[in-house]
Amino acid sequence: MSALPQFVSKKQNAPEKIPAGGRRRDFSEIYRQFSQERAKEQASRCSQCGVPFCQVHCPLGNNIPDWLKLVSEDRLEEAYRISSATNTFPEICGRICPQDRLCEGNCVIEKGFGSVTIGAVEKYITETAFDMGWVKPPAPERENGISVGIIGAGPAGLAAADILRRKGYEVHIYDRYDRIGGLLIYGIPNFKLEKTVIERRRVLLSQAGIRFHPNFEIGKQATLQELQNRHAAVLIATGVYKARTIDIPDTSLTGIFPALEYLTASNKTCLGDRVPEYENGSLNAKNKHVVVIGGGDTAMDCVRTAVRQGAKKVTCLYRRDRANMPGSQREVSNAEEEGVEFLWLSAPKAFAGNGKIEKILTVKMRMGVQDASGRHSPVAIENSGFDLKADMVIEALGFDAEDIPAAFGAPEITLSRQGTIAVNHATLMTSLSGVFAAGDIVRGASLVVWAIREGRGAAESMDRWLMVQKAT
Ligand code: FAD
Ligand code: SF4
Ligand code: SF4
Repeated sequence: MSALPQFVSKKQNAPEKIPAGGRRRDFSEIYRQFSQERAKEQASRCSQCGVPFCQVHCPLGNNIPDWLKLVSEDRLEEAYRISSATNTFPEICGRICPQDRLCEGNCVIEKGFGSVTIGAVEKYITETAFDMGWVKPPAPERENGISVGIIGAGPAGLAAADILRRKGYEVHIYDRYDRIGGLLIYGIPNFKLEKTVIERRRVLLSQAGIRFHPNFEIGKQATLQELQNRHAAVLIATGVYKARTIDIPDTSLTGIFPALEYLTASNKTCLGDRVPEYENGSLNAKNKHVVVIGGGDTAMDCVRTAVRQGAKKVTCLYRRDRANMPGSQREVSNAEEEGVEFLWLSAPKAFAGNGKIEKILTVKMRMGVQDASGRHSPVAIENSGFDLKADMVIEALGFDAEDIPAAFGAPEITLSRQGTIAVNHATLMTSLSGVFAAGDIVRGASLVVWAIREGRGAAESMDRWLMVQKAT
């Protein structure tokens, strides 16, 4: 008789999580790392599917079953080689991919036994590789003397830079921020992704010879045309930053902030910068009744930041129900454990206060009929209004693209109907020859793993295009 598969006898185990009480005032990452024994045990639960749905649903097509098998056999260096062949930043994806919607949510043993904890094993492999000195700067074997410019040092721009540098290009990255990382550094809070993880990568990329130009905003310090004159090809990887706003009375009251302004102030403070708006209390949730409007991952990051800043009460207001929220269920559970109150099926109708926000006039909603996209639209319930006390409101309603052709002085760049940059999907080239685009600025607000995939894809495509230019 054949032995039972390992996933039957070995229970699913996630890495240990710091108890909610301990993490309420602490910005450190909340998940500890697997021990070698635990990583090996969990990796051995994989049944090595012939058609691995985990891999199919990983945007990078990571060769998951192979590296799980190698971990289960203690062959960690080989596991690292395979995992890093398709992913530029596996230690970041292992931490912050919404695995429940991607690889793990599609693992065949998910129903009944609990998926293999793929993300945690991916993080374990890469952290071990860093500890063992297996992670090297992406330096080329030979220089090719061709210069490329990348606008934006977020995950898309950095992933592209890594590939292009390995191929021998002279790579310059321009970013309007003072630090590299894009939303990895100033959007996503430490309790999901500690900033030392980004700094470690910055050092490696610099050691490889990639030239960073911080505090350099295209559209202000240089036009796109000037960059095209300096470089043989240019990649636009600027992300999306125009915060959506809510159209209700009375948004002019003080104490109402866009999510990214709030998170950036908190991240800078955690990095040791002096942020006057944090220090004078305006962008600080301490002792306040904080209401965050929205149900995505940004909203979850805001509520959990407010808890850590010592808010008196933190409430998340979302107009749909829990099942229909866009945020990761794992993050909602983490927020609930940390004491956040969720008001599902509730929408703001008006802000009220005397110069400063004091309360939100709120109405209860019910799920209505499906719209064209298949989503149920929420409908207000008559006479269901109630007041919600608030002395700080954070709007986390999503982001749109800035007007890149106007900002860059490049009206020739064509946009999609959503206002993002339109590209040829096979080459990621924009309507301007030699100018490519990748990441959120192409697909709209999305995920780090998609930005990495597109950055890598754009780099390969730029290389092919540049080699043709060189030959002709
Ligand atoms: P970005 O990361 O936005 O980087 C763009 C860079 O371009 C920035 O550094 C910016 O300063 C620079 N730039 C912009 N304009 C110019 C200019 N004119 N000149 C020079 N530089 C410029 N995804 C996940 O997978 N998991 C998560 O848990 C997660 N949490 C998130 C939490 C928050 C609060 C937010 C806002 C997003 C989150 N995301 C998450 C989404 C993820 O961060 C993005 O999808 C990803 O960072 C997009 O990468 P990018 O490189 O396209 O753009
Ligand atoms: Fe899963 Fe993300 Fe890693 Fe892919 S990159 S295996 S989706 S955690
Ligand atoms: Fe292993 Fe699950 Fe992937 Fe199958 S779907 S190969 S069991 S991780």
